[in-house]
Amino acid sequence: MSGGPLVVVGAALLDGGRLLAARRTGPPALAGGWELPGGKVDPGEGERAALVRECREELGVEVELLQRVGGDWPLPPSAVLRVWTARVVAGVPAAGPDHSELRWLDPGDWYGVAWLDADLPVVRAVQALAGP
Ligand code: C5P
Repeated sequence: MSGGPLVVVGAALLDGGRLLAARRTGPPALAGGWELPGGKVDPGEGERAALVRECREELGVEVELLQRVGGDWPLPPSAVLRVWTARVVAGVPAAGPDHSELRWLDPGDWYGVAWLDADLPVVRAVQALAGP
């Protein structure tokens, strides 16, 4: 048995005041919504390692994690989202099967996409920490 809630990790990828948003292809309830890229932590995997792996798999980039953003963000019904700011250190993000589109949001346009309900408060916290 593993204890605790299911942990999903997310990256607030920053580049000179721009924030990367990723548009989900699924599941149907979330498709079309925008998220901070990331995914589930595998059993036995460290959370930071999981986030580096997810960015590699989903976006095709190597990232450096910078700063934790808040604590546990609720992902109803029973998971939590843990988020780090990060920067791309190699490659250019490209959408894979999980995303229909990626967009670098310019400073002042961070709320120009329809963030998933779970991600919107996180984006506000990223802005308070590191935003333009
Ligand atoms: O990406 P993945 O499907 O592994 O994420 C698991 C769940 O976490 C999603 O179905 C979604 O509900 C949620 N999620 C989210 N915001 C994120 C990442 C994941 O709401 N940035």
